[in-house]
Amino acid sequence: MSNPSLLILPGDGIGPEVMDQVTRIIDWFGEKRGLKFDVETDLVGGAAYDKHGVPLADETMARALEVDAVLLGAVGGPKYDDLDFSVKPERGLLRLRKEMDLYSNLRPAQCFDALADFSSLKKDIVAGLDIMIVRELTSGVYFGEPRGIQDDNEGGRVGVNTQRYTTNEIRRVARSAFELAKRRNNKVCSMEKANVMESGILWREEVIWVHENEYPEVELSHMYADNGAMQLVRAPKQFDVIVTDNLFGDILSDCAAMLTGSLGMLPSASLGAPAANGRPKALYEPVHGSAPDITGQGKANPSACILSFAMALRYSFDQGEEATRLENAVQSVLASGVRTADLMQAGDKDPVSTTEMGDAVLAALDASL
Ligand code: NAD
Repeated sequence: MSNPSLLILPGDGIGPEVMDQVTRIIDWFGEKRGLKFDVETDLVGGAAYDKHGVPLADETMARALEVDAVLLGAVGGPKYDDLDFSVKPERGLLRLRKEMDLYSNLRPAQCFDALADFSSLKKDIVAGLDIMIVRELTSGVYFGEPRGIQDDNEGGRVGVNTQRYTTNEIRRVARSAFELAKRRNNKVCSMEKANVMESGILWREEVIWVHENEYPEVELSHMYADNGAMQLVRAPKQFDVIVTDNLFGDILSDCAAMLTGSLGMLPSASLGAPAANGRPKALYEPVHGSAPDITGQGKANPSACILSFAMALRYSFDQGEEATRLENAVQSVLASGVRTADLMQAGDKDPVSTTEMGDAVLAALDASL
């Protein structure tokens, strides 16, 4: 049997800096755990534009559709701000998401004990927090037609967007949430606005259909999305998996992410339909951008990118124990006080560099054997 395949797209700014550390960790799993991957590296974003005149070459897109998982660093930067919209770095990422049909966006909000002080909420509310937001990513109001800005024939204008969901679109993302819940604490909370939106009523009915017909063993609850926002900051630990639409998910996942403190710590996964081998199409990436303000200075925190690889181990390669090993390694490094500059507090030791953070995670992995 051939090794599982990974396409690495480091991208722009700090993307290559943080991805270098992930590459060392991938090598570690190959050498020390016998978990070998066939790894290819290619360009995306501004880096691809510089070479090909487009933010994602067709050959790269084709490879992304063939491999078992894609790992992306970050795209964008001031150098590309004046480019035409059609070739902006972000378009490369959007093309990947669209052509891979990645409809399920997983954003974990996990608060490592060592970082609980970084949250804007009280420590006891967030310490030990571990929730997962599943956001529908390819439909809803960001894509629905009709859309646009028109004259309203009364001397003003009207802006229109359409919230639209089909049975299939709701059922497939609901399945993704129930599957996740089975690997976690077996609870799904579905959020919509069924009190005021027909698309919300359909959402609720279809989630219930999937639950009753396919996942009756998982605990399902429903919440209006506005209440969900309140509950996330009031008592976030009541949740396990939250599933919601594109618009509400955009807002709720950012809200939940900040419960945990730093952008440098947040991983994400975007999953599509399972292939014949059972592996979903998958793109893993840190939530942060290319951080031009610190690029090239060795200050970037590689943890978000490293934790994105941990998600790949768990969700693409069914290596939950190895994923936990890697997450625990990051956690133990932070607990020992080794921190990059973004995680510094008064009285801390000097910050470590991106590479030193990678060294520390590798040492913690060695210690885990
Ligand atoms: P950003 O996430 O790049 O940076 C926001 C702030 O967080 C900056 O101060 C940065 O230094 C800090 N930061 C981010 N990641 C960090 C890390 N790993 N370690 C330490 N500090 C970190 O967001 P921005 O400044 O709004 O955007 C910069 C560029 O990135 C823009 O071109 C934007 O379009 C792009 N962007 C790309 C993505 C993506 O690739 N998915 C996401 C967001 C923004």
